[in-house]
Amino acid sequence: MTKALLIAAGVAVSVAGVGVRAQQVTGTVDSHLAAAKAAAGSQFTALYDRICKEYEKPLTPPPPAGQGRGGGGGQPAGPPPASQWHVEPAKVFDNLYFVGMTDWSAWALTTSQGIIVIDTIFDYSVEDEVVNGLKKLGLNPADIKYALVSHAHTDHIGGAKYLQDHFGTRVVMSKEDWDVSDRTIPERIRPKRDIEAKDGDTLTLGDATITMYLTPGHTPGTISSIYQVKDRGTPHTVATWGGTAFNFAPKPENFLPYIRSAERYRDVVKKSGADVLLSNHTAYDNTNANIAALRTRKPSDRNPFVIGDAAILRYLTTAEECAKAGFVATSRLAASN
Ligand SMILES: [Zn+2]
Repeated sequence: MTKALLIAAGVAVSVAGVGVRAQQVTGTVDSHLAAAKAAAGSQFTALYDRICKEYEKPLTPPPPAGQGRGGGGGQPAGPPPASQWHVEPAKVFDNLYFVGMTDWSAWALTTSQGIIVIDTIFDYSVEDEVVNGLKKLGLNPADIKYALVSHAHTDHIGGAKYLQDHFGTRVVMSKEDWDVSDRTIPERIRPKRDIEAKDGDTLTLGDATITMYLTPGHTPGTISSIYQVKDRGTPHTVATWGGTAFNFAPKPENFLPYIRSAERYRDVVKKSGADVLLSNHTAYDNTNANIAALRTRKPSDRNPFVIGDAAILRYLTTAEECAKAGFVATSRLAASN
């Protein structure tokens, strides 16, 4: 066996080794909620409210199919007016820019050979926010060489086809989520299947490298990533958590991959030394408040996006404990039916 094969086998074993089985989720809904709340602290209340709060009361049986819980992959009835979602772009690090909306983030990582956009927001907002945002920042959207799409929901993949069509941008997503895209994204906005990222793959452009980890849960092939930025010349490591909400059918087995991914990604974050957390929804990582703080930042102030590895681990613990609460709550509901 060649060395490369041995390494590949080792990775497979270590991934399989952190599998979570139902019987390993011990504790009650309340104990998991308490653990999530403690981990969230005052910093990640939006995350707690979004994915934990619904388990504070006993679950009721879901409404018939077609009603209730949104799938997350659906297309809105029509584009809302820009006044409801437009925000100005912002430089966040020496080589990272926010080009998203009030509620959704797109990030532009500049490199020595072009730009990588991480998440592409919606089809109706990509031009205003990503393209015109880059221009306002003095950057050239024609330099967008890659779009790394965390997962195939319209709020993150929606702008990918536009970038493909206008700039020849290569679109990177997991094979699993390309399959989701083919099944669920309307053809009008669906990008052509392009680069399929596998777990542990790297995306390199010029002097920047993004390491991509498959963290299934929110979707079958959600990508969470690790990469470097600089703040006034000082290097920092970014960790993203590519999918957040439990938008899947509320069945116990659907929470297990999410729990497994959160546990596994915590190890990735620990090893990476990441000290910056970025979400693709502005509420979860406090992007709007952080950008407001950056606009009045004094030379002695720290960059508010640099929160340290302990806080990132607390974020992932919050997500994991909420998923465990969801697992126990939906198990209990299933048992009572
Ligand atoms: Zn999503």
